[in-house]
Amino acid sequence: MKSRIVVCVSFVICLSAMTFAAPGAVHCGKLLDVRSGRMLTDQVVVFDGGVITAIGTAASTPVPAGVKVVDLSNGTCMPGFIDVHTHITANPQYSGYRGLGISIPREATMGVGNARKTLHAGFTTIRNVGASGYSDVAVRDGINEGEYEGPRMLVSGPPLGITGGHCDENLLPSEFKYKADGVADGPWEARAKVREVVKYGADVIKVCASGGVLSKGDQPGAPQYSLDELQAIVVESHKLGRKVAAHAHGTQSIKDAINAGIDSIEHSSLIDDEGIRLAKEHGTYLVFDIYNDDYILGMGEKNGVLPESMEKERKIGRLQRENFRKAFQAGAKMAYGTDAGVYPNGDNAKQFAKMVEWGMKPIDAIQAATVNAAELLGWADKVGALEKGHFADIVAVQGDPLSDVKLLENVRFVMKNGDVVKDEIVR
Ligand SMILES: [Zn+2]
Repeated sequence: MKSRIVVCVSFVICLSAMTFAAPGAVHCGKLLDVRSGRMLTDQVVVFDGGVITAIGTAASTPVPAGVKVVDLSNGTCMPGFIDVHTHITANPQYSGYRGLGISIPREATMGVGNARKTLHAGFTTIRNVGASGYSDVAVRDGINEGEYEGPRMLVSGPPLGITGGHCDENLLPSEFKYKADGVADGPWEARAKVREVVKYGADVIKVCASGGVLSKGDQPGAPQYSLDELQAIVVESHKLGRKVAAHAHGTQSIKDAINAGIDSIEHSSLIDDEGIRLAKEHGTYLVFDIYNDDYILGMGEKNGVLPESMEKERKIGRLQRENFRKAFQAGAKMAYGTDAGVYPNGDNAKQFAKMVEWGMKPIDAIQAATVNAAELLGWADKVGALEKGHFADIVAVQGDPLSDVKLLENVRFVMKNGDVVKDEIVR
């Protein structure tokens, strides 16, 4: 029997109104301590009400009488993964002009299907940064009500952007008089827009600081919001208890966003040495979505991506990967974000191997998707590590992900909040 509770971490952000799971335990043959990078053996995790109450070696961690123990002695346990940059209400086959025929309610229903795929891939927490209407708010609320499966979600609703910019809709001629929900020009209009998206359910604010790849008529390297607009957005968002994620490919926009006090730079493609230095100095997280380039170049044309966007991707994809390696080697803070929705939601784990290919060790990539991502979200004491007081969000693979990072693409066990959502462990 389950009853529902609401876990609130502040006045405004409720982690979720999740089911209040029965007491339980898992026995892990191996368990990766993601903070230290150490692989532990023969570990037991005990939880009650969806929260971890004890963790340690099987010999030293008593399991309360009557509690069922899930046997993962053939598995390697880790905390559930976190993707800090998703578009759960988007499917890539509706790119370019094809997307104009997709209604906001239809986007919400796509989000329901994608939420399940994402959770089953081992991503128990996501930050959704940009959705039409408030389709992501609706998907989050249904998950929190226990209506269907999905990860814990922080959502932004419509992303803020300038008229004609990356976060506007530029495909229609003027007689349609259409602009995207998040368009706001000038510091005060932008501040009013922050208030509006918060009013309708945003947990986090997304802004488009520079141009983008998949938008019509702009350039990824060119600034869009000015420094004073970005500063106004940050002041208003932080005042309302929301962090700000800035889409920024361009060199200048990355610096403006960091100097304005933005919490994370999304894409970060054309960051230079000064930008990396500034990010380190301000403690700003860099989020490099370095998997999806392969998908866009392979499938974009078939999916309706505009020819000009294909051209932009060809120019920027490799530079982004080189700058990822440079920023990592320089010691900048990094969190795992993939731009899911640009490629199929549920393939989120494919970026792990790409991060290793471009300079990280497997443990670095895993930390980006666990402890680092949790810190960026402001949920460091709740998710991203298997520790007492954290949610019982546990994934397991079979084999050693530190020697074969691609195992992370084949998660065999997923538990969220103490509830088993998938168990394909070979015993
Ligand atoms: Zn995005």
